[in-house]
Amino acid sequence: AKARGRNGYRFYAPSMTGEGVERLRLETYLRRSIEKDEIFLNYQPQVEIDTGRLIGVEALVRWNHPELGLVPPVRFIPLAEDTGFISQLGEWVLGEACRQMVRWERAGLVVPKIAVNLSVRQFERGTIVRTVRDILAETGLAPHRLQLEVTESVIMNTGDALAFINDLHAIGVSLAIDDFGTGYSSLAYLKQMPVKTLKIDRSFIKDIHLDVNDEAIAIAIIQLGKSMNLSVIAEGVETDAQAAFLLRHGCNQAQGYFYSRPVMPDDLLRRWLP
Ligand code: C2E
Ligand code: CA
Ligand code: CA
Ligand code: CA
Repeated sequence: AKARGRNGYRFYAPSMTGEGVERLRLETYLRRSIEKDEIFLNYQPQVEIDTGRLIGVEALVRWNHPELGLVPPVRFIPLAEDTGFISQLGEWVLGEACRQMVRWERAGLVVPKIAVNLSVRQFERGTIVRTVRDILAETGLAPHRLQLEVTESVIMNTGDALAFINDLHAIGVSLAIDDFGTGYSSLAYLKQMPVKTLKIDRSFIKDIHLDVNDEAIAIAIIQLGKSMNLSVIAEGVETDAQAAFLLRHGCNQAQGYFYSRPVMPDDLLRRWLP
């Protein structure tokens, strides 16, 4: 079934019947998506709350299939992980994100940092460190301008996570823990690993000033970050009230619709070019 979205894109939604057939079809299409130029990136600004300054962007992958329309990442990332296609996709995303940083810079905009999501399968492959090093060398992007985002489950489910992460740190690339507070994990890894940033999950931000539990969790994460010398950024900030709350409690970095939706590279340039 296809429904027309507000912005004119058609959104892909599977039919109730034939889940298996749909999945197979999606898998077949997905395999060709890169060579057919259907994959692209959107970029969501990360800002300093008190000044409104641009401190970075997060790269978010998009798939626009001619028949299916815009397929949301929650539908194709898990599929790509199951089929192994994520290795190719992940490499393309990393390369494109770094190339875009260079393009913006040529156009006069220095984006301080780009954050790229990594899935567990990219770690399992064991070549992540070489891939990152090669892409940085090819594009000439300074390593400290690249941040990799992984979830707690990626860290817990990767046997050699510590070794990979130390290697990435040694190259100069920084690491953020995505969706922090939502995974099953001990916090012990935080003191062993060179983590730079905690990203407070959107689910805690949503009702931050209405729900005492969410409020308590968000404040605890901000405090944890402070005491461990980590930077903390809140994701999913949609309102002025949420931003004000964060600032009041010592978190000065945010990302969310209140500032900007994920956008195309030119839109980002238009908005932030000095
Ligand atoms: P994520 O890494 O937690 O990314 C944030 C998601 O929240 C994005 O959804 C973003 O569009 C959305 N978002 C940002 N601000 C707001 C807000 O204020 N309100 C609300 N309601 N949503 C907001 P998106 O782009 O659909 O991506 C979903 C997930 O797909 C990502 O969650 C990430 O886990 C995965 N993903 C996206 N791109 C990649 C990629 O290149 N590689 C990998 N491995 N995973 C990716
Ligand atoms: Ca992320
Ligand atoms: Ca996240
Ligand atoms: Ca999240």
